Amino acid sequence: MRKKIVAGNWKMNLSIADGVTLVNTIISTLPSLPQEAHVILCCPFTHLDRVSTSIRETSHAQLHAGAQNCHDKASGAFTGEVSIEMLKEVGVDAVIIGHSERRHYFNEDHDFLKRKTDALVAADMHVLFCCGEPLAVRERNGQNDYVANQLTESLFHLNAQQMKACITIAYEPIWAIGTGVTASTEQAQEMHAHIRSLLSATFGNEVAQEISILYGGSCNAANAAELFACQDVDGGLIGGAALKAESFLPIIEAMC
Ligand code: PEP
Repeated sequence: MRKKIVAGNWKMNLSIADGVTLVNTIISTLPSLPQEAHVILCCPFTHLDRVSTSIRETSHAQLHAGAQNCHDKASGAFTGEVSIEMLKEVGVDAVIIGHSERRHYFNEDHDFLKRKTDALVAADMHVLFCCGEPLAVRERNGQNDYVANQLTESLFHLNAQQMKACITIAYEPIWAIGTGVTASTEQAQEMHAHIRSLLSATFGNEVAQEISILYGGSCNAANAAELFACQDVDGGLIGGAALKAESFLPIIEAMC
């Protein structure tokens, strides 16, 4: 059975103290999760040690600390960057790669994302690989080719075993991120089915059925249940609504 995942992307928000309070509140109020369900808290680098320590102290095997970025090189003169081994040292299990904000503000291109993905897979880390089209592409109905190209360029060189072991895909239409405009259930299901058909054509149906595909973009307590009820939506990557326990917990409940 493929995993259900709700991942919170805190972006560059919350003080360390507020982050620790949030993770402790989530830990103490987390509903009991079905065996296949996981929650990942993707914090700023400065918060990871404290957040993962809180998680480890609970021995909650389905709750994880995640990072929002990493570098592909193991070490060296890369001022301002953080390596995968450094993330592992502070208890990180998963890393977001290819978020549209990193693609846009930091000019991360297909090749850099491919190298980061390879380095994470080699380190046996879980990759939350983001894809999704801008509004202008959706308006000309070009979203399927756009997303197919993102996946082909940075992800589909992996082998089936690596895909199955390490990859979760997050479909995040850029026009829905932080805008309050959510993809309709039809739009989400249509794109997720498209992604699964690309996975099937490239890696075979068995692998395609095993890979979780999350929806991200203004997902909240009011719309999570109907989005997660779509056949090919296996959970969500949550930005704004992940910053408060009262808005994040109902989304976790919607996955259960
Ligand atoms: C995100 O940036 O990954 C995201 C989904 O943000 P929001 O939920 O705020 O739209």
